[in-house]
Formats: sequence, structure tokens, C-alpha cells
Amino acid sequence: MNSMIPIYMYHHVVTAGNLPQDAHLFVTDSTLAEQIVTLKHWGFEFITLSEAWRRINYEGKTSKKTVVLTFDDVYYDFYESAFPILREFDIPATIFAISGNICDGAIPHRVAPGLYGLTNKQLKEISDAGIEIGSHTITHRELTTLSDEEVWVELRESKTFLEKIIDKPITTFCYPRGRFSPRIINIVKECGYDCAVSTLRGNVHQPAEQYFLKRIRSGQERKGFKLKYTTSSIYNLINIRRVKRETERLFNADKLG
Ligand SMILES: [Zn+2]
Repeated sequence: MNSMIPIYMYHHVVTAGNLPQDAHLFVTDSTLAEQIVTLKHWGFEFITLSEAWRRINYEGKTSKKTVVLTFDDVYYDFYESAFPILREFDIPATIFAISGNICDGAIPHRVAPGLYGLTNKQLKEISDAGIEIGSHTITHRELTTLSDEEVWVELRESKTFLEKIIDKPITTFCYPRGRFSPRIINIVKECGYDCAVSTLRGNVHQPAEQYFLKRIRSGQERKGFKLKYTTSSIYNLINIRRVKRETERLFNADKLG
């Protein structure tokens, strides 16, 4: 059975003054707030990814209008700009943490030029506020370029590391750069994850897509009609051929399996 649940994908959330020239992976805090208010106004309920998967798997077609907000990578800008908004509107989103970027110091540390990672304490605070934490590996390397053993380490150790910090099971996974293949999916399954998200575009899901659930890239332009159409089945239809093509390309790109 098909379930229609738009799962939005965000990366960086910043204030308007910090929006870079190439804002491909960015939204401003005010755009995020506007999108939440609009979706609420249209009658959508916000749920976590694991709850969405539960509904896709067990309930099939739901009469309720539901959406999921997901945030990949989660640097300090998430804590500073997105987290307060999610709290204010009481939105149970899902964030995918790169465990190697989480530090146990008192202040966020620099993990790349201009980017700061979260501390243990901040991640726990986010989790305690009702935001679901998923794994995005330890190092964010493309998994299809790694050996089975290396993939195992990335998936198992990030999971146990994050579970220790938040004291809750980590059941959701997100592929770095959206790269996956049947070989990688098997390891995700063996490592005990319940579901995983891809970067394939769409909003209608089937239980068979458990480990490559489709998402919708969010951005500054997702307002009015450009947001509205991502909540309709037209969005899914328009992208069906592209998804098929991309899935084939991904599977053929894994030289190791
Ligand atoms: Zn990522």
C-alpha cells in the first residue's frame, strides 16, 4: 500500500545575513518558520521519521495529512537557528548526526572551515526536547567506496556512540551524499536500523522502500505554490522516471558489490 508523507530534507539553517551566494543547502530561520506555519495552516501533522516509517509499514494509506522535517549533518547552526524554532512550534523533527563531529568539550569545536560541531550536552538537550536523532555515519564518507568492514564500523560505531549520549535507541539512518546500493542496504539492515532515507525525490512511499525512503529538498524557494506542489501526488509522479534512473545509476556505481 502507498503512503503519502512528504519528508523534507534540510541542511544548514542560518539568519538572513548569513545566507551565502550559493544557498543551495541553506534556508534562513524565517523561511523555516514560514514553512512550518504554512504546513500547519494547511492542516499537516508533524511526526518523526521513525513514526512515519511505522505508519508506512503498518498502516498503509492514512487519512491524516502528515509531514516529516529532516536535517542532515547538523552543525552548530542547527542548534543556534533551527532548534529554537522547532521548540517554539513543538515540532518533533528527525536530525542525522555525523558522530565524529560530536565532541565532549564544553563549547562547540571547529570541524571544517566555518563549521562547528555540536557538543554531547547539546545533542542530549535536542534529544530530550523530543527531536529524534538518527545516524549519518562517523566520517560522512561515501559508503559505496568503502569495504564491508569499513561500512560496518561507520554504521555500528556511530549508532552505539550516539545511543550512549542520548540514552535512547538510534533506529534511523541517512546515507552520506545520498549514495547507497544493495550491498550497503544489507549492512544497514544487519546493523539494526529500522529505516533509512535517500535523496531520491518523491513523497509517496511503500514498505519495500524501507531503506531508501524518498525526500523533498527544502530551500528558500519552497513557499506558496512551490511548497504546495511538494505535498501533492503530482510531485511524486513528475519524479518517478528520474527516481528509477537515479536508483539504477546508484546501484551500478558500487564497484564493490
Ligand atoms: Zn550529509
